[in-house]
Amino acid sequence: MSQTTFNKAQFQAALTRQWQRYGLHSASEMTQQQWWHAVSGALAELLAAQPVAKPEKKQRHVNYISMEFLIGRLTGNNLLNLGWYQDVADELKAFDINLTDLLEEETDPALGNGGLGRLAACFLDSMATVGQSAIGYGLNYQYGLFRQSFQDGHQMEAPDDWKRGSYPWFQHNSALDVQVGVGGKVIKDGKTVRWEPAFIFHGEAWDLPVLGYRNGVAQPLRLWQAKHAHPFDLTKFNDGDFLKAEQQGIDAEKLTKVLYPNDNHLNGKKLRLMQQYFQCACSVGDILRRHHLAGRKISELADYEVIQLNDTHPTIAIPELLRVLIDEHQMSWDDAWAITSKTFAYTNHTLMPEALECWDEKLVKALLPRHMQIINEINARFKKLVDKTWPGDEAVWAKLAVVHDKQVRMANMCVVSGFAVNGVAALHSDLVVKDLFPEYHQLWPNKFHNVTNGITPRRWIKQCNPALAALLDKKLKKEWANDLDVLEGLEKYADDAKFRKEYRDIKYQNKVKLAAFVKARTGIIISPDALFDVQIKRLHEYKRQHLNLLHILAQYKEIRENPTADRVPRVYLFGAKAAPGYYLAKNIIFAINKVAHAINNDPVVGDKLKVVFLPDYCVSAAEVMIPAADISEQISTAGKEASGTGNMKLALNGALTVGTLDGANVEIAEKVGEENIFIFGHTVEEVKALKAKGYDPVKWRKKDKALDDVLKELEKGIYADGDKHAFDQMLHSIGKQGGDPYLVMADFTAYAQAQKLADALYLDQEAWTRAAILNTARCGMFSSDRSIRDYQQRIWQAKR
Ligand SMILES: *Cc1c(COP(=O)(O)O)cnc(C)c1O
Repeated sequence: MSQTTFNKAQFQAALTRQWQRYGLHSASEMTQQQWWHAVSGALAELLAAQPVAKPEKKQRHVNYISMEFLIGRLTGNNLLNLGWYQDVADELKAFDINLTDLLEEETDPALGNGGLGRLAACFLDSMATVGQSAIGYGLNYQYGLFRQSFQDGHQMEAPDDWKRGSYPWFQHNSALDVQVGVGGKVIKDGKTVRWEPAFIFHGEAWDLPVLGYRNGVAQPLRLWQAKHAHPFDLTKFNDGDFLKAEQQGIDAEKLTKVLYPNDNHLNGKKLRLMQQYFQCACSVGDILRRHHLAGRKISELADYEVIQLNDTHPTIAIPELLRVLIDEHQMSWDDAWAITSKTFAYTNHTLMPEALECWDEKLVKALLPRHMQIINEINARFKKLVDKTWPGDEAVWAKLAVVHDKQVRMANMCVVSGFAVNGVAALHSDLVVKDLFPEYHQLWPNKFHNVTNGITPRRWIKQCNPALAALLDKKLKKEWANDLDVLEGLEKYADDAKFRKEYRDIKYQNKVKLAAFVKARTGIIISPDALFDVQIKRLHEYKRQHLNLLHILAQYKEIRENPTADRVPRVYLFGAKAAPGYYLAKNIIFAINKVAHAINNDPVVGDKLKVVFLPDYCVSAAEVMIPAADISEQISTAGKEASGTGNMKLALNGALTVGTLDGANVEIAEKVGEENIFIFGHTVEEVKALKAKGYDPVKWRKKDKALDDVLKELEKGIYADGDKHAFDQMLHSIGKQGGDPYLVMADFTAYAQAQKLADALYLDQEAWTRAAILNTARCGMFSSDRSIRDYQQRIWQAKR
């Protein structure tokens, strides 16, 4: 496969067509926003005209179904992957347009919540780059994740209208429109059954191009958009039952109106299940359409197609495929099952019970009566296997059943029906087997795999940190962006003082840029000479932003008690959205903002300590924050963060991790070496032991005076204008006997100690830079290209 070459004349002609569409006389009349549209539109037009590279070897095609794709801005990334950035920048110079500034005009398509959606985006990039033929299937939400602002320290949410209707990268493919039924009844017709839905939705296919890195590959991310529903029974409709049919009508457009803003938490709403089914029915329909079009037999489906489920959100695709095979292709159960159970693979993203999806049987039945029958059949057949393996063991059945207690358990359905299950980091995959699915593992030991997550080095080094990328180009003299193990070649420069200075200067310049960004967004002035300590991720109790906050308060207290002491100046930067209904998380945001306000305005503190909560954390904000970070906060309770990917982005960009032995932190620590990371806190085993003993947070609090003191301050309300109850939710969650489920109290002392070690190392800038360089040099394995190759070897293309 070869790179697509830039054709100047074609680009200019396409650009001309774009501004002429605005009815202007010349390009120079365009506004900056119109310029962004025109350039993006011209590029999309050129790409559509390029022949799409075909996969090289015979391999199963991957259908990656995910409710979320947090892709971030596309124009800059596409230019970079095409290798056209400089050419286009040069073209635009003639019009006095700066390409880098222009790219800031793009609104992030925020069609995801956090790590899970971002992972899907990195995987698409990597599949196109390593030549894994694939389609991403998702939903075309009108409103992405809400926009966040703060009012008096409280999170405010505003709808994210990203203007999908005029997004230049979208291509509507009307040839792929599909019909999706919902509701109604199942009619038994002799031996066969027939589902007669009450309503038929119309699904439109909107494609975004996913470009491989300089290899000429383009493959689609296909996002379904719901359009008008009409009643199934048109005769009845025409016969005058019109009104009745209309009244029952569902507003189809509502279906893909908005992304549910929950991360690691299910909410069990009917509309959400409808979204899930709509997406799955459209995608399964499209997969079968392509299979048929290629002239292949339906019985060979699993030889050509894999359906990878990103978490359990698209689980309903399993009974959907069975339904189509049985009801529409008249297959026997056994034949349909043989195909289905070789087609689906499932990625588990969490062990936390509140995030494991269960659906009310009644709801599933009302919405999808035929699917509920099929799910019951899966359950009944599986029960025979369980009864044979554990005769008479009711408890084990209660655990393993797909349908139990009037609930449909999606994770169980995935494990029972799929050919592969994987966790997303070594530690997490271990826990999936040992704690979540031990009995399933006993039944099918070969079904379980680990594939450690990764990130794309195109967006997360080359695009977001161009200065570091240029340094890597210069020193490594080899393409590293699609072969990240090449970074190992950097190791020898860690001892080269001249190189260290170059590396350090780049970090410094990135900090200058972030300082400007912070000033523009918040008005707060921070010094790039301070240590930048960054915690960016969704706000969640288990991620423990409040542990960070308590430590900041302890530092503040130290400064007040000893204002003249020498110390490492620090800027703490937060970025995090809380789900709108997650009140505890919102209370933590409020507390951080209130404490930040007090510290930032205390003249005694000055430049020694600043706290910034940047509003509206998103992919484009991450792209500014990550290259500027000195410390990466990865401080979740051990066993709770499945992998994390922010940890990888930050380590590759030369931030040192302060972290627990959780998720992929474990593998990062192994790679970078214990002297180049600050590991602290209870391990998974120690967490379990502590809880088994009967954990009492109050005892831990009393053992650490600094901790006890700052908690007292919060309890007195001194950061909330005397309101003693301002932070009740946060304080109650960590303070009661039997409380503190995430062990904030138990890990505080060790955390403060780790931060002290970090300060000490930072005082020796040469030693610090050396460690930072080694983080970059040794984290090549966290490329998502490696993750994709692992999926290929272990799951998608493994011998069957
Ligand atoms: C990478 C990323 C995440 C995931 O961060 P974690 O620290 O792994 O939870 C979330 N949101 C955005 C915008 C990201 O880029």
